[in-house]
Amino acid sequence: MSTRVLSHFIAGKAVVDAGTQQWTNMNPATGEVVSILPMDSIAAADQAVAAADEAYPAWSATPVGDRVQPLFKYKSILEANIDELADLIVAEHGKARAEAIGSVRRGIDCIEFACGAPTLMMGQTLPQIAVSSSFCRTEDEGGVPIDSTADRTPIGVCVGITPFNFPLMVPMWMWPMAVACGNTFVLKPSEKVPLSSVRAFEFADEAGFPPGVLNLVHGGADVVNHLITHDDVRAVSFVGSTKIAKHIYQTATAAGKRAQCMGGAKNYMVIMPDANHEAAIEGVIGSVFGNSGQRCLAGSAVVLVGDAGDWFVPAVVEATKKVSVASGETKGVGIGPVIDCASRERIAGYVQRGIDEGAEILLDGREALMPEGDCFIGPTIFDRVTSDMAIATDEIFGPVMSIMRASSLDEAIDTANTSPYGNMGVIFTSSGYSARRFKAASRAGMIGVNVGVPAPMSVFPFAGWGHSFYGDLHANGPDAVRFYTEYKITVTRWL
Ligand code: NAD
Repeated sequence: MSTRVLSHFIAGKAVVDAGTQQWTNMNPATGEVVSILPMDSIAAADQAVAAADEAYPAWSATPVGDRVQPLFKYKSILEANIDELADLIVAEHGKARAEAIGSVRRGIDCIEFACGAPTLMMGQTLPQIAVSSSFCRTEDEGGVPIDSTADRTPIGVCVGITPFNFPLMVPMWMWPMAVACGNTFVLKPSEKVPLSSVRAFEFADEAGFPPGVLNLVHGGADVVNHLITHDDVRAVSFVGSTKIAKHIYQTATAAGKRAQCMGGAKNYMVIMPDANHEAAIEGVIGSVFGNSGQRCLAGSAVVLVGDAGDWFVPAVVEATKKVSVASGETKGVGIGPVIDCASRERIAGYVQRGIDEGAEILLDGREALMPEGDCFIGPTIFDRVTSDMAIATDEIFGPVMSIMRASSLDEAIDTANTSPYGNMGVIFTSSGYSARRFKAASRAGMIGVNVGVPAPMSVFPFAGWGHSFYGDLHANGPDAVRFYTEYKITVTRWL
């Protein structure tokens, strides 16, 4: 793949503004340079917001049934080009091709949901909330009836800032619903994976969105901070690490913006002694190691209850040894490289820290059979991890499993609830009682019962708790419609 020097995408055109600093991305599997992009073009950010602001009056006045037509077309375009998009995702992110295809399908799922905007945006009416006359109680007595309606109206220019781990899918949590609701949009994709977003916007242009409805600007922290405080921006959607999510939420809301900020995670999975063995092993391996652990819904700490360890530990180690580590393009590969060399070093550092803090290492991912290269690291399994260790508390965002032990379900739930995050909690059990108790007592927004990655489909909100989310309205589902619209209440009296 040849290197692409990227432009911004503003008002339907490629706009060149390289700023003063550039960022270079390599294919993490091969080291080949795949993209170079500008990092500090504040002028381009201003131009993108201006284009979105200019497009807003006509777009918000376009009937919602017409606004979703480009989305229907876009869905077909994406389906026809899923292989090209998967190639780009694998090349810039490194993930296994099957995972890349799955993530595009999940993105398309969001577009399908947004196509329902004509129904989703419907408001409420209550006729005859009162009859206006000081003397009459009814119309028959000469009073004038008063009706009331609540309409969902778009809010204006919305901004989206996205992370590296799902280059195409996470932006789809934001802009399809935002524009279907009548807003215009500026996306600032992760500087680490810009290619698939740029291509997705080129396809959106083909689908027929008017110029300025969708805009994309590249950049780093300065561009983000400029966008989230810009006078003409009304709402900010963010997905990324907890530290930045908190910063974006505080900064954007202090500047008077509506904000929804999804953060990082440390997800606990509880294995009961009565769990189906195959389902638990497969579910845990897929959750902890899938996408090389770079998911906000990655299982990370696995709490074995009672004697579950007797069957779980030997079986999970044997099954993990079969997870292959190679380029994401390799047929049937288990996991590809992590995003970059710095991530690999950070993850390897956590493996060393786990050993130094006294956990028992059962499989060392630094020694896995894998290609040469800075960005590969295989699956690691630790046992006898305790709550005070960094591998039990920190989001590692790599393929590391930390096995802990608990004598009862309640002790396991208490252990999981010590985490300040709260994205996901998972239980594997064959007991309805245990599952119900886990669901009720877990302080997490997304719960899996015998499901390792309980990612909600787009009709449901994507809902983290605690330090995994700052804001009120989550991504996707009815929350997204509420986030990207505001109510206008009208009280009417016809004389
Ligand atoms: P990140 O926080 O480093 O970057 C996310 C975005 O913020 C990028 O676009 C980046 O340019 C921007 N950014 C980085 N530093 C900034 C700063 N100082 N000021 C303003 N903007 C800044 O996250 P990442 O490493 O790209 O992604 C991984 C993280 O995202 C993980 O923590 C993962 O759990 C989280 N994530 C969460 C969810 C969720 O739904 N909760 C989903 C996917 C990923």
